[in-house]
Amino acid sequence: MKIFDISLTISESMVVWPGDPKVAINRKRRISAGDSCNVTQLEMGSHTGTHIDAPYHFEEDGAKIDRLDLNTLVGKAYVFDLGDANEIGMDQIKNLDIGGRERVIFKTSNSERWKSGEQTFTKEYAAVSSEAARFIAGRGVKLVGVDYLSVEKYGSKPHDTHHALLGNGIIALEGLNLADVAQGEYELIALPLKIKDGDGSPARAVLRELT
Ligand SMILES: [Zn+2]
Repeated sequence: MKIFDISLTISESMVVWPGDPKVAINRKRRISAGDSCNVTQLEMGSHTGTHIDAPYHFEEDGAKIDRLDLNTLVGKAYVFDLGDANEIGMDQIKNLDIGGRERVIFKTSNSERWKSGEQTFTKEYAAVSSEAARFIAGRGVKLVGVDYLSVEKYGSKPHDTHHALLGNGIIALEGLNLADVAQGEYELIALPLKIKDGDGSPARAVLRELT
């Protein structure tokens, strides 16, 4: 069974959300310097690269990352290819077969940014509109995946998209690279680090072809 790695590579030069901590990868011990092993100190924000938003990210009483239901993070997921749409809005999703799916992932032109190696943050990414977020929340979906660093349009206040999703206990999987993935159904595996009381965590996300 083919496995598609839909994760971004964590590096000091990767794109990070404006104002979030930059990634620092500090080599603390090196075999090449006479140490017995290689050890690295990592510094990064909890919403770095391909990552999971726990409801607690935007909801003070929401579930924290170490207590998410792992059943939501492993299982069948449908990738909808929205082509070059500049928004994940009602026009794009109202006719999609979303009802009854626990996990939905939206592929947009954002993925081409990752494929082309773009290394600067853009505010012009395709994001989920607040109307679309409410629509999705009303369909029983438990996880929403997107291919830029946030489900929500840049600068939007008061974060209606995040609240419509996380406020309904829906987990957001952000920062996916879907460039090499075609529309269809897969098995998703995306597990966050078990950070005590965490609001989010980087994750290694993969899609496995169904047999
Ligand atoms: Zn996030």
